[in-house]
Amino acid sequence: MPRFLLLSACLLAATAPAHAHDPAEEQRWSIAIHGGAGVILRETMTPEQQADYEAALQAALDAGSQVLRSGGSAMDAVKAAIVPMEDDPKFNAGRGAVFTWDGVNELDAAIMDGRDRSAGAVTGVRTVKNPILLAEAVKDDGRHVFLSGEGAERFAQDKGIEITEPGWFETQRRKEALERLKTNELSALDVDYKYGTVGAVALEQHGNLAAGTSTGGLTGKRWGRIGDAPVIGAGTYADNRSCAISATGAGEYFIRVGVAQEICTRLRFSSRTLPSDTGPDETGDQIETAPGGRVALTGAIVSDVADAVMAEVAELGGDGGVIVVTPEGEAIFSFNTPGMYRGRANSDGLNEVAIFASD
Ligand code: ASP
Repeated sequence: MPRFLLLSACLLAATAPAHAHDPAEEQRWSIAIHGGAGVILRETMTPEQQADYEAALQAALDAGSQVLRSGGSAMDAVKAAIVPMEDDPKFNAGRGAVFTWDGVNELDAAIMDGRDRSAGAVTGVRTVKNPILLAEAVKDDGRHVFLSGEGAERFAQDKGIEITEPGWFETQRRKEALERLKTNELSALDVDYKYGTVGAVALEQHGNLAAGTSTGGLTGKRWGRIGDAPVIGAGTYADNRSCAISATGAGEYFIRVGVAQEICTRLRFSSRTLPSDTGPDETGDQIETAPGGRVALTGAIVSDVADAVMAEVAELGGDGGVIVVTPEGEAIFSFNTPGMYRGRANSDGLNEVAIFASD
């Protein structure tokens, strides 16, 4: 099976950047979600399981879309999409999170606001029902960006964030995965076949971007291991000037590559302002520009950049995927695994969920 099949798809939604303050453009919104990437194959999934996942993805996508459609913020849309996936035991986030080596669930999450790059992140949390809401509280509080373990839980109590019994997160399926990993000395991917992290990225009607990611990490993780999901710039990033990103995959590689910020930075430089006397490009075509003389971030450019950064992850030996939304409303998936639970919707009527690379 082609493990490093690089795949991307693009949504052509726009000709001008939403941050150009063109009132005609302010109605555009766009959202993409994921529920993890990995060895997800049609032949190993029953039609019922497939329908279950598609329904869960659609429910999360609808929750986020509804916020954006009614003029709500990208931050609210990201939360609205992530919370139901955290509560759904099918995904490795919140309820249904994987088990650590020591047999507990330790949750990580991050959220970032593209307006001012304010961010909040938490790691190693054991009692907070919806870690994405705690990440948002960290961001709103503003004194720190990244809280861990017991400190993060004390902060949650101070802020009135819902606390639950650790048993809420436990599922038999994940317990058995830990037992298999220990008994057969397997890696996390060998027992799970896939990464089940959840994430969402959104462009709101006012042109602002946001990104969020929530995860239980990897089965059998030890010694307080932290993955990429809560690390700002690795698994999560948002900047109104370029894009919003959420990742899923082998977190160690995403941290080493700095995947989320790397993609956003490359896109920011791609959308530079051209001198007014700029001629055609090397193929003789006029370069497509957005208002203000900026190079328009077309779907093709965004796909190329995301694929190039994911190729770096693959070169180092990592696998996984990203979802990307740009100021123009492009919604892109790029992944090097046989499948990724994913969905996207926008103000032009696009509304789709997909699982397999061939979808
Ligand atoms: N990226 C996550 C981690 O390494 C795992 C996942 O995507 O499911 O913690």
